[in-house]
Amino acid sequence: MHEFGFELAVCQWAEHHWPPGRPRDRTVIVARQLGTRRRRWDTLVIECDPQGLTARARFGEHRLDSDLLGVVRHAPAEWAWYRDALPEPDYPWRYVREAVHRAADRGVVERRRDENGRIELRRKWRYPDWVERIVAVENKPDLDASAARDLLDQIERDVALALADEVWIATSATDSRVEPVLLEGAPVEAGILVVEEDRGADAASVAWQPRSLAVDDPGTRILDRPEGGSYDASACRFEYADPDWKADKRLAIAERAYERGWRSYADSMRPDCRQFQLRPETAVARPFCAAKDRAQTPGECSQGCEQFEPEPPVWRTREWPIDGGPGAAIKRLLDRQRNRQRPDPPEK
Ligand code: SF4
Repeated sequence: MHEFGFELAVCQWAEHHWPPGRPRDRTVIVARQLGTRRRRWDTLVIECDPQGLTARARFGEHRLDSDLLGVVRHAPAEWAWYRDALPEPDYPWRYVREAVHRAADRGVVERRRDENGRIELRRKWRYPDWVERIVAVENKPDLDASAARDLLDQIERDVALALADEVWIATSATDSRVEPVLLEGAPVEAGILVVEEDRGADAASVAWQPRSLAVDDPGTRILDRPEGGSYDASACRFEYADPDWKADKRLAIAERAYERGWRSYADSMRPDCRQFQLRPETAVARPFCAAKDRAQTPGECSQGCEQFEPEPPVWRTREWPIDGGPGAAIKRLLDRQRNRQRPDPPEK
């Protein structure tokens, strides 16, 4: 299985069965290919407070970016001038003012002008604490010894930064169940998950339990690490990541996960190609290309694909009279499945 198919299988398994080997006591949101500017994780599991997640739904299905979060988290219960109500930014106030307007246009805060023309705001709802834990999973289905060594360097950086509460490596079983280099060389804090091509809770099993990382403490960002040996005596370079930066980044990542889920791959592929299918394989319904007669990767299934064939117009005019062709129907199906993971907002 290529990495993309494996990734979808892990996402689907996590959506139904996270955490491995234990009963679920929190709601989870699963997303893929998210992280920071420097580091993107394959799969993210956001463990959520169920009531908090329901309250989060009031703010809409789209993410609140860091500027909007700054507004909704500090918007006061009573009308106040935005400069009195919001924390002093380390950039010009006009950007904050723009964020207040954007938040009001989205309907997540109230805005008005006072008699002097100054902009005031008031919150509509308190922004809830909905994120309990963030779990990062690196997917490596076919891990030989050299791929495992490359991966371990990255995992050590993840553990040192401690931006996620847990870091896991998901791999498929080898003859010896887990690639030995992985077991010998992985930081003890990182978990190892062995994933089979199968459905059900047992499709993934724990080969090594992770430890919870200190997300509230300063993290260490490893910038450069020498190879070592007789020719490289340079020093390791690193910097600290402060807890406030980590807290803000975690929430911004969770917001993006809330918006995107893990089925957003259809946005970057070509479901409007007549060869595009969704095939329910053993473990997960995944994209399949009839022209290639195999599952395609997102890189192949893009604007540059030479085998792309647009859906015939008749597909869009007969059986699909209003809503477009099968490609649009696939996108709607994936959107519906994604929306099922996000609860409706409370009545009041
Ligand atoms: S032919 Fe190309 S664009 Fe069409 S489904 Fe296959 S990979 Fe995607």
